[in-house]
Parts: sequence; C-alpha cells; structure tokens
Amino acid sequence: MKQQFEIAVFDGDGIGPEIMLPTLAILAQMAQVGGYRLDFNTVPAGAAHYAQTGKSLPEASMAAARASDAILLSAMGLPSVRYDDGTEISPQIDLRKALTLFAGVRPVRIFPGQKTPLNMPAGKEVDFVLIRESTEGLFHTQGRGEITKDDARETLLITRDISEKLFRFAFGLAKERKDQGRGQGRVTCVDKANVFRAFAFFREIFDAEAAKHPDLMADHAYVDAAALWFVLKPWDFDVLVTENMFGDILSDLGAGLMGGLGVAPSADIGLDHAVFQPCHGSAPDIAGQGIANPLAMILSGAMMLDWLGLRHDAPQLVADGTRLREAVEAVIAQGKVLTGDLGGQASTQETADAVMAALA
Ligand code: ATP
Repeated sequence: MKQQFEIAVFDGDGIGPEIMLPTLAILAQMAQVGGYRLDFNTVPAGAAHYAQTGKSLPEASMAAARASDAILLSAMGLPSVRYDDGTEISPQIDLRKALTLFAGVRPVRIFPGQKTPLNMPAGKEVDFVLIRESTEGLFHTQGRGEITKDDARETLLITRDISEKLFRFAFGLAKERKDQGRGQGRVTCVDKANVFRAFAFFREIFDAEAAKHPDLMADHAYVDAAALWFVLKPWDFDVLVTENMFGDILSDLGAGLMGGLGVAPSADIGLDHAVFQPCHGSAPDIAGQGIANPLAMILSGAMMLDWLGLRHDAPQLVADGTRLREAVEAVIAQGKVLTGDLGGQASTQETADAVMAALA
C-alpha cells in the first residue's frame, strides 16, 4: 500500500500563501499521526510571478505538477496584472487543459448551524455535488475568441471523448456516495438541449452512460430550471453534471447557498491527475491582512486526502479526509471562531487553530 505522496503546491497570489500555510500545517500533522507521508513541493506560478518573470506557469512548475501524486492550489490571478490582450493570468485554467482535468467537482453542503441565505425547512440538509466539465464547452476558445470591429465570436465545443469520461466519472461518484449513505444514487444532466443541438448531443451521450448503470437513477434538467431549484429545493439534488460555463456560474450559486466563497472547496479531476483548490479567487482586497477564511482551502485538502486514499487503496487517508471535513463543519456549526466573511472576527490562523483543536 502506498504511504508516501508527492504533493505539488501552488500557493499563488493575493491571499493564496496566507491560506495555504495553515492548510499544509494541518495536513502535515494529520499525516504524522496517521502514519503516512505528504511531501510538499511548493512551486511558483501566477500573476505576481508573471509580473516578475514574464512566465505565468513556468515549465519546471508544470513538470512538478505532472510528476506529483496530487496538486494543491490556493488562488492565482490579480486584476492589476494582465496579458497583453487584457485577459487575467489564470494558470489554473492552463493546468486543467494541460492535464485534461475534465471533472470539476464542486460539493455543496448546508448542515445544521451553517449560515445560508436559504430558509431551510426543519430536518432538511443540503449535500450535493456539482460536476462542471472543465476543459472544453464555452471555454474552448478561451483567449482565442475572434473579434472584428462589428462582432465577436467564441466557440462552444462538446466532444464525445470528454463527455463519455465526464459522465462515467459522474455515475462513479454517485455510486460512491450511495455506498457511503450520502445520496440516493441519482445523476442529473444539466443542459440546454431544448435550444442547442450541441446540448442534445451532450444529453445523448449522458443517456448512453446512464443505461450502463441500472442501479443508479438518471434524469435531466434545463440549466435555467436547475438555477431555480438551487434556490427552491437544493436538498433534492444528488450529483449534477454540466458544461463548463454553466458549471462556472452554478458553482458560484452553490457557494452562495453555503454562505459564501470562503467555505466552498473544489477539485479538478482527470484520469491521471487532480488539482484541489478553493472556489474563490485571490481576494486582493483583503490580501496581506491575515483575515482570509482558510476553510475552503482546508476543505479542498480534505477532498485531496479522500481522492488519494480511494485511488491508492489507503483507507487511512479516506478516513482522514472525512475527519478533516467534519472538523471544519464543527468549527462552522459552533460559530465561535469565524472569519469576517462569515460574520466573525477571527484571523486566518485562529480559524485554522480551531480546526486543529476540533481534530484533536
Ligand atoms: P476569480 O475571478 O479569480 O475567481 P473573483 O473576482 O470571483 O476571483 P474573489 O477573489 O474570489 O473574486 O473574491 C470575491 C470576494 O470574495 C472578495 O470581496 C473577496 O474578499 C471575498 N473572498 C474570496 N475569498 C475569500 C476568503 N477565503 N476569505 C474571505 N473573503 C474572501
């Protein structure tokens, strides 16, 4: 059984290094107690690095990411640093494409004690996963859109190859969740198949994969209806799977339901690699003050432990992933040590210390 894991660490821009530092400390402590090794290799990339060197994602950093067992990434990009065409530096998107990380996994959880803008009916909890395709869709021509004086064009691409992998992943996740007692085993394809032929194609491939899983349920929702249900009855969802741009928008809606970006983790997963990163950006408006919420980063670390454990048949890591998620949820539910975005006054370090205490 594998006991030693190489982790490439991108601590990035803005609040990135501030939230990464305590996350690595928590993970290192868990590894020490759990009897496995996490070897962190911090590598440069991002907007500040681009401003200094003209490279946003150096080849050596890319090579380290490729060679690692998993990649931890905080946040990259700064509004003040841009490429010549005016777009922001986003090496995280380059990584997704280069490593074919087609499945963007965005868990949405609302449990008793968690702040949410929803009126939660008594006894209801929200626990679903949105899977955002992360390599094609409307991001296909990202940075290459055509602009003339009179019009502008971007192309949406849906391929059979990536869609098949995406839907196989979605049904696999629904099965895993069902086995853990966390979902009914249902996958919902979110599309716009009533208007666009490309989405009818997407849905057809989804239906073909669904037919291979008679033990699981499958249904469809148009993206506009799905947005409505996010607000009206999110407790009915289990696993949702959708195109890149739809997923980009819905995942921020999901983060909003959870009380904000500061508690929304994510993973971008492919067949051979995975990046674990909070949903939020580099928050330059609060950088350098030690007040950023580290919980989304820590929860992303928990997702990494879970993924590594399942992939390498290492039950200790899976158990630690669950333990870490539950420790974060306990800190949120107690509501005593929270950062400003959650209505508290705690610092980044005090919040991380509270997670460490909850683990102990
Ligand atoms: P990107 O486009 O890179 O995802 P963004 O423009 O959506 O970034 P963020 O950097 O995510 O913006 O910040 C949006 C708002 O949320 C800002 O006001 C920021 O301070 C706040 N925010 C984001 N992450 C955190 C965090 N971890 N803790 C506290 N506040 C945060």
